[in-house]
Amino acid sequence: MNARILSGTADNIAAAVTVLNEGGLVAMPTETVYGLAANASDGVAVASIYAAKGRPQFNPLIAHVSSMEMALKEGHFSIHARALAEAFWPGPLTLVLDVAETGAVSELARAGLDSIALRMPRHPIARHLIEAFGGPLVAPSANPSGKISPTLSQHVASDMGDKVDLILDGGACMAGVESTIIDARGERPALLRPGSLDPAEIEEVWPGLIRPALNPDAPQSPGQLLRHYAPKAKLRLNVKVPDTGEAYLGFGPMEATLNLSTTSDLNEAAANLFAMLRDLDARFDRIAVAPVPTKGLGEAINDRLTRAAK
Ligand code: AMP
Ligand code: MG
Repeated sequence: MNARILSGTADNIAAAVTVLNEGGLVAMPTETVYGLAANASDGVAVASIYAAKGRPQFNPLIAHVSSMEMALKEGHFSIHARALAEAFWPGPLTLVLDVAETGAVSELARAGLDSIALRMPRHPIARHLIEAFGGPLVAPSANPSGKISPTLSQHVASDMGDKVDLILDGGACMAGVESTIIDARGERPALLRPGSLDPAEIEEVWPGLIRPALNPDAPQSPGQLLRHYAPKAKLRLNVKVPDTGEAYLGFGPMEATLNLSTTSDLNEAAANLFAMLRDLDARFDRIAVAPVPTKGLGEAINDRLTRAAK
């Protein structure tokens, strides 16, 4: 428990911006729960969120914005998506959109997907921090994987105090429940996760809500539910010597087509994972991957490689 707990004054927000610019982690209050914030555009900073939470998998993270202008740079808004944003932002609504060409959010934060999840929080400290930082922040709940989401800065201090650089204190979070996630890419809105915004309110702005999250057996049109990034190329894992004609994705000091991290740094490897797989997939039919240790973030890296090899 050694993170500084500071109130949300302008000076303290400036200190938090410095931490974020250096790739560090800041816990911030939102109207739902305390979030563990990092620069969404910095893959290594995003990797350290997964490491801090001890997440065994890379699930995509929500990018938090402070203005519509910032949001428009990151995602493609249909007329309906725009109407939802105008009605409920700032607030506990997350929109899943097609990623924009101008988007700056790292591939790791999107878990390699072509979609992006965006939300504009209402909490003044979160808004001020994003505004002062000047770009999107990823901010999953500030608790170790599998533990309950924190609604007080003291929860963050006791659970994650040694993993975050600074905690901004905003008292008790009001909702205590996560944001409602709507996939806004289709003809109709789809509820990906029920949350603190009532779906009935969504229906008033954009009728025809589909509820795949509540009815997993219902027939679904493509793209409704979260899918995993999957390369077209055939992947072989734990390969020490690649075959001829195979691309080699290295880890550690070795000759390779591309190297996740020549210094065997798992944070760097995580940050490079999706972009390098994508790059090799575009140029090769077969990819051999060097062994990656399973400790720490290596567990999530291996989880993703195993899925990609199926
Ligand atoms: P949270 O745990 O509040 O950070 O929310 C993360 C959840 O948001 C994920 O588990 C997904 O359900 C959803 N999500 C985040 N990013 C994306 C994305 N790019 N595409 C689809 N769903 C996403
Ligand atoms: Mg959580």
